[in-house]
Amino acid sequence: MGEDHEDEDEDEDESEEGDEDGDDCGEEDDEGEYEEEENESMTMTLTDPQALYCLICYNPLTAPIFQCGNGHIACPSCIPKLKNKCPFCRSPIGSSRCWAIERVLESIKLTCRNTNYGCKATMSYSNKCIHEKACIYTPCACPIPACQFVGCHGQLNKHFSESHKISAIKFQFNKTQTLL
Ligand SMILES: [Zn+2]
Ligand SMILES: [Zn+2]
Ligand SMILES: [Zn+2]
Ligand SMILES: [Zn+2]
Repeated sequence: MGEDHEDEDEDEDESEEGDEDGDDCGEEDDEGEYEEEENESMTMTLTDPQALYCLICYNPLTAPIFQCGNGHIACPSCIPKLKNKCPFCRSPIGSSRCWAIERVLESIKLTCRNTNYGCKATMSYSNKCIHEKACIYTPCACPIPACQFVGCHGQLNKHFSESHKISAIKFQFNKTQTLL
């Protein structure tokens, strides 16, 4: 009477969205608990990041993307400047969309480079730069010259009040402060 425990099919329970207790700013436990059941998405390595850049203006590609008859592509900000001529082969460009790469771009979700500092944001390729410029988890170095601490805004405030006992000083994000 071998009873099979089919505990691999648990598609009814999708409530594992990760606990959002928000205070993981101070700890760096590598919990290794990656969701292995997400069979609809996969992790990829992009070996040629230029593949996602417009080769005319070198900005990240965003939809709508247009292509010439030979398959060269141009981003929407380049199209008006090209006057309907592909800069690579002089064929007409501007009326056919390149749906394939638009779909790829839409499906790419990247994590913030500050993941290790607590940022859980995921974003599309074109939004990555925008997010990271404004990300509140961007690490800053402790302004005490002898101190090697580097952490995000919240970590730095905590570190400062704990390690340097100057709790009155609060850092302002994005401002350089010099302590004399
Ligand atoms: Zn462009
Ligand atoms: Zn072309
Ligand atoms: Zn971020
Ligand atoms: Zn310090």
